[in-house]
Amino acid sequence: MISEYDYIIVGSGAGGSTLAYRLSENSRTSILVLEYGSGAGNPLHSIPKGFFFTLQGDRYTYHYPTQPIAGTTKIESWTRGKVVGGSTTVNGMMYSRGFQPDFDALAAHSGADHWAWDRILATYRSIENHALGGSPLRGEGGRLGISATGATGELADRIFAAAESLGLERVADVNASDDERIGYTPSTVFHGRRTSAATAFLTPAVHRANVTLETRTRVARILVQDGRAIGIEADRRGSSVTYHARREIIVAGGTIESPLLLERSGIGHPDLLARHGIDTVVESRQVGERVIEQHGPGSVQARLKKRLGATETLNSPIKLVYQGALYLATRRGPISTAGYDFTFHLKSDPSLDRPDLVGCVTPFAIDPTASKMKLAGHSGLLAGMYQTRPQTTSSVHISGPRPDDTPLISPHYFETDVDQSASSRILGRVRELLAAPPLADIIEGEDFPTNAVSSEPAAALEHGRSFGGTIYHAVGSCAMGPRPDDVVDAELRVRGIAGLRVVDASVLPFQVSANTAAPVMAIGWIAADLIENT
Ligand SMILES: Cc1cc2nc3c(=O)[nH]c(=O)nc-3n(C[C@H](O)[C@H](O)[C@H](O)COP(=O)(O)OP(=O)(O)OC[C@H]3O[C@@H](n4cnc5c(N)ncnc54)[C@H](O)[C@@H]3O)c2cc1C
Repeated sequence: MISEYDYIIVGSGAGGSTLAYRLSENSRTSILVLEYGSGAGNPLHSIPKGFFFTLQGDRYTYHYPTQPIAGTTKIESWTRGKVVGGSTTVNGMMYSRGFQPDFDALAAHSGADHWAWDRILATYRSIENHALGGSPLRGEGGRLGISATGATGELADRIFAAAESLGLERVADVNASDDERIGYTPSTVFHGRRTSAATAFLTPAVHRANVTLETRTRVARILVQDGRAIGIEADRRGSSVTYHARREIIVAGGTIESPLLLERSGIGHPDLLARHGIDTVVESRQVGERVIEQHGPGSVQARLKKRLGATETLNSPIKLVYQGALYLATRRGPISTAGYDFTFHLKSDPSLDRPDLVGCVTPFAIDPTASKMKLAGHSGLLAGMYQTRPQTTSSVHISGPRPDDTPLISPHYFETDVDQSASSRILGRVRELLAAPPLADIIEGEDFPTNAVSSEPAAALEHGRSFGGTIYHAVGSCAMGPRPDDVVDAELRVRGIAGLRVVDASVLPFQVSANTAAPVMAIGWIAADLIENT
């Protein structure tokens, strides 16, 4: 068995898959991709609404219990994909890219033009195959299928009209501007099937002769010799294996797992490593620190006076069978769309220069009395919103030297004035939409949180703290930056060691007004050029 490759990529998620695809374009290099999860063979992975099932249990996902959220006794579960394609195989499929000011800020922060919007936009245009067609702001013919569809008809018309009455512009592509706007959610769904980083990038890469994929292989440690990362030790289906890299090892395990792997390998804060009996190889005090997660303060569910939306097309076994058959025959219907049909961007405060909140509406109602997620017996809609650029930092660290030691995740939210101000206005802004005609005319009342919870900012913030939580978009645990204590530099090289990079969500030093899959795929794409050229 070959045990030496030019590049070893740890993790096959958004970052790892895209990187493998690009690096393997050079047929003279050999690439090994190691993935702890299994292959994405389950048909539910390609059915958009299949994620309701694949997110359950631990077959395709990690559900890491956190420490109590700072200032509370509440524990949450930070879920991530554990399957080929990583979280992009199980996620909500919203394709949200961020915009010019975010990436220009990243370039300014890191001191590197390759993170500026011009380069990021060119990258998005290269990877996208957008059903809306190509444009100066959109790609066509790339590997990542994207569409922007959702429920049509009276409910959709009323939602759009209500948003327009509040000053939001109705647009065909919410990724193509940075104003207050509403449109169908751009999603990594194409012809009714999910496109993940695996289907778009890893699968074609693996068809090339120079890429090897090993699934169910968990990397335990990076091997370092004379200041250089030379290989990895892993558990492969119950056996211990070692692989060597001639050129580089690229860690792409995601915001939670990447810092854990660095720490297990002796790269981290010396005191923390010593507590777990790990010798310090590189002192890097920010590993696992400066994590920034977006916080969803809980949705509002409105009951409708009329039979509208998708709930009553799916809320019994017989309807499910019918919709399943319809989906199989036509790839259409409510099963064929992503997590949320409608997306809107708006400002928490009119004085802001651009939106800082994103909202999503789905034409489903869930049973508010059920202990497990189940559709309601009545028509309704769910509307949620979150702050796109929070600043409060959390942390992720090892609790022991072994890969299966539960990580110590310490979530913090709302600890800056900006975060408090933005989040405290969310409930009020969601209700403003629901109260705007002609949507208001068909709303009977709220299933939750009900008018027992006031939209007044202090009460709304408290409600968000109690009922809301993680939305699985954390970044920053191996953040890039120009300072000696930033974990990676602008070329994503781990400081203090040769032959080692990180290419995943963990390198983003702040949120870029997006859900994180699209930015991380762009990072993976650009990282291949950095690796080839440095
Ligand atoms: C439930 C959920 C819903 C989401 N919804 C959306 C959405 O709608 N839109 C959006 O843009 N983003 C969404 N996201 C976030 C987005 O999918 C992630 O931010 C993105 O996939 C991160 O990419 P990554 O490469 O950093 O990590 P991941 O995609 O998570 O991939 C990391 C991979 O590395 C593997 N790995 C980790 N450690 C090891 C190890 N030691 N050895 C071997 N393999 C390892 C993991 O098994 C995993 O497959 C969602 C995430 C989740 C969990």
